[in-house]
Amino acid sequence: MSKKILVWFRNDLRLHDNEMLVEALAKSDEILPVFCFDPRQFEPTSYQTIKTGSIRTKFLIESVKGLREALQALGGDILIVQGKPEEVLPELVNQYEIAEVYHHREVASEETEVSTLVEDLLWKQKVNLRHFIGHTLYNKEDLPFPIKDIPDVFAQFKKKTERDAIVKPCFVTPQQISFVNVEAWGDLPTLDQLAINENIEAITTQDEIIGGENEALTHLHEFLHTGEGMALSNTSLKKNTIISKLSAWLALGCLSPREVYWKMKDAEANYGLKPYFNQIILGLLWRDYFRFMFKKYGNTFFKPKGFSLQPNKKYDLDTPLLNAWKSGNTAQPLVNSLMIELNTTGYLSNAARQLVATYLVYELNIKWVYGAAYFEEKLIDYAPASNWGNWANLAGVGNDLRLTTSFDFQKLVKIVDPKGIYTQELRA
Ligand SMILES: Cc1cc2nc3c(=O)[nH]c(=O)nc-3n(C[C@H](O)[C@H](O)[C@H](O)COP(=O)(O)OP(=O)(O)OC[C@H]3O[C@@H](n4cnc5c(N)ncnc54)[C@H](O)[C@@H]3O)c2cc1C
Repeated sequence: MSKKILVWFRNDLRLHDNEMLVEALAKSDEILPVFCFDPRQFEPTSYQTIKTGSIRTKFLIESVKGLREALQALGGDILIVQGKPEEVLPELVNQYEIAEVYHHREVASEETEVSTLVEDLLWKQKVNLRHFIGHTLYNKEDLPFPIKDIPDVFAQFKKKTERDAIVKPCFVTPQQISFVNVEAWGDLPTLDQLAINENIEAITTQDEIIGGENEALTHLHEFLHTGEGMALSNTSLKKNTIISKLSAWLALGCLSPREVYWKMKDAEANYGLKPYFNQIILGLLWRDYFRFMFKKYGNTFFKPKGFSLQPNKKYDLDTPLLNAWKSGNTAQPLVNSLMIELNTTGYLSNAARQLVATYLVYELNIKWVYGAAYFEEKLIDYAPASNWGNWANLAGVGNDLRLTTSFDFQKLVKIVDPKGIYTQELRA
């Protein structure tokens, strides 16, 4: 009997640099690619937000569609299911006589709990769930320290990792795949089937960041070799003026961080080192850092008190002010403009995120977790470790206490609005 492996795609929606897929192909005769639209991802939260808002839902549908098209080009497809993985996968294992299930393990609690549930149920069927960890630039096993000893201070993590660890080459993109025979591969859900309570009309024109591996690779290429990227050969450009906008593709795994790194090294060989290359590598290191910190500390980042040893800070429970912040109706025109940008595009630059978050926490004195939950709903690039890790640091309850002193609202206003356009509006 031929050996069949079920490849459970999650936040790894790509064919390039995908160790899980390469391994599954090496160890099987046929694979069954599966993606589950888990209903829990689209539910309301206890913070009066929705876990996944329309902008990211749309991006997710596009990304799965992109993967489907790539697999169809190789003569197969991906089975699309709406349901909880722990209910869906054991059934598929039975139905298709699957020998093993492969997946990428995540670091945040809800995602790892789903893995554990699936693993326990498969175990009863005597089927192994194999874990891969493929989301970071540096592999966990290549770090110069075990997870429990990773420095909490970002600067130390960066210094030691860059000095003592290497970035592995990318895994080769498969050119041939044998697929399990499936009668009906299932339809992609539509946006209005998944997105609840939202004005879908308002976002459907925001097509700038489109989901999928092809879109990601094209964007990366253009950024590095044409237009904006090349225009940045001007070394006088200041920090925070360059944004790659790669984050959404990185978050869903349409793009691998190693692919970004090696493509950047190629570009560097052609054009020389550009200041923005270092900034992107720095961003990827921050991304790794938060993922490893989540692995080290688990749920602490989701708690309002975080890592703080101080008594609980007193916040105001002012719902109208929180709602004004969300909808861009505060007394601060710059904050308003940025919140409207977030609500309509799902994207803000790092400095802009820091600015609106600092305003919520330090000027409006509202509990940071409400802001983090709102970002979770709205961001097109939401990633649990990056979002909750950055928010916790900004609110002064992160694990690297050195980071918390840099969030000064007026300083951030000068970075985001250097010409003072919004400040003038405030005075007018
Ligand atoms: C309050 C707050 C919440 C945030 N939430 C998220 C989130 O949910 N998802 C997310 O990807 N980023 C988050 N960030 C980090 C950062 O703002 C975005 O990654 C960045 O703005 C994306 O733009 P870019 O792709 O042009 O980044 P670039 O500057 O081009 O950086 C390249 C890549 O590095 C990563 N990166 C850069 N900065 C950071 C950082 N500080 N922390 C973690 N990763 C980083 C991103 O994947 C990014 O695409 C948050 C920052 C703040 C202050």
